[in-house]
Amino acid sequence: MIQWTDEQRALREALEDIGAALGEGHSERDQTAVFPHGQWKMLAGSDLFRAPFDQRWGGLGMDLPATMYLLEGLGYSCRDAGLNFSASTQLVSTGIPLHRFGSESLKARYLPSIVNGSSITAHAISEPDGGSDALNMRCTAVEADDSYILDGNKVFVTNAPVADLFTVYARTGDHPGPGSITAFLIERDTPGLVLGGKIEKMGLRSSPFAEVFLDRCRVPKENVIGRVGSGFWILDHVMKWEILCSFVINVGEMRSRLERTVAYARQRVQAGTPISKHQAISHRIVDMKVALETARMWLYHTAELVREGRDTTVEVAISKLLASEANLASALSAVQVFGGYGYTAEYGLEQELRNSVAGVIYSGTTEIQKNRIAAMLNL
Ligand SMILES: Cc1cc2nc3c(=O)[nH]c(=O)nc-3n(C[C@H](O)[C@H](O)[C@H](O)COP(=O)(O)OP(=O)(O)OC[C@H]3O[C@@H](n4cnc5c(N)ncnc54)[C@H](O)[C@@H]3O)c2cc1C
Repeated sequence: MIQWTDEQRALREALEDIGAALGEGHSERDQTAVFPHGQWKMLAGSDLFRAPFDQRWGGLGMDLPATMYLLEGLGYSCRDAGLNFSASTQLVSTGIPLHRFGSESLKARYLPSIVNGSSITAHAISEPDGGSDALNMRCTAVEADDSYILDGNKVFVTNAPVADLFTVYARTGDHPGPGSITAFLIERDTPGLVLGGKIEKMGLRSSPFAEVFLDRCRVPKENVIGRVGSGFWILDHVMKWEILCSFVINVGEMRSRLERTVAYARQRVQAGTPISKHQAISHRIVDMKVALETARMWLYHTAELVREGRDTTVEVAISKLLASEANLASALSAVQVFGGYGYTAEYGLEQELRNSVAGVIYSGTTEIQKNRIAAMLNL
């Protein structure tokens, strides 16, 4: 078990102290699907966005597990799961690849505003014809003098409607495959980068996503992140961070939900008995607890292996699978324990159930994670 330092605990406490204010109005935002700019500023004023970046860019220099420890606190204390999801996208989509692989001049130009939250970031990988099969992306980037010209469509790009900076992955090689993908950092106002209209979605509704169209979009060569053709390896690094950071938020959310479910089951009396005394209910709640603890252990264990630079292909897949399915099952169980009240909007659990469906789809679906584990078993 990782021992957190006093400083890390203090940072988490400070974040949890503003959690209620960050979540305020989340039910209304679930209906209106409006991105909470005010809460975003509040979050930017906390230390969260600074956590994993070097001090010279305004960061705190925290490692992956410590950054996750903060994010778990956000998930626990802030009931706006859309805001939480947008925040993890902010950390991992552009800041993380830029920090690790970007040139010094690219970092100097963009990292400070990402770290202080004044630039909102997004990453565009999925395309209309392929999310699971992202490696076969069709979006192309063709060299032209001192630039690349990008053409293609991207879909489901979280934060896109409010983003200032995009990391776009496009094909620079003639044939699909790992060595032919390149990551580009593109400013929102770049001619040829066009956003699609508002997309209504089931959950995480305060976290907007949109299509991104690239129509002869000219990007200077200096805006390539890493080397030309290294996009697949950059994405591999980013996906580890994305999975570990976004699903540890779910662990915090599951803990908050578990506490509310325990309290409700203890005080809800039917036929003279608290429903918590029915084994069918208490075992359901125990399953919520076991799944949450299992997900937490796998996520932090995997994060430590990532920090040590070990091969974590299978551990990341298991962590993602366990945590996303645990969150979905936990939300469904909470609705069942609350009965008719769980089904109403008032208690927020139906919203949590809708939110939790996203996790078994984004960052590689449940089926894709199982495929990865099967491949490691030579199946
Ligand atoms: C809330 C949310 C946020 C997102 N944010 C982003 C973002 O910021 N940037 C971005 O680029 N993308 C984002 N996505 C897109 C996401 O990564 C894709 O939706 C996901 O990878 C699945 O791709 P797809 O939708 O094309 O489904 P498909 O790949 O068409 O899959 C459809 C179904 O077929 C199954 N399937 C596909 N291939 C196989 C296979 N080989 N074996 C077994 N089953 C298979 C899938 O598991 C799924 O059940 C987001 C999605 C959601 C829901």
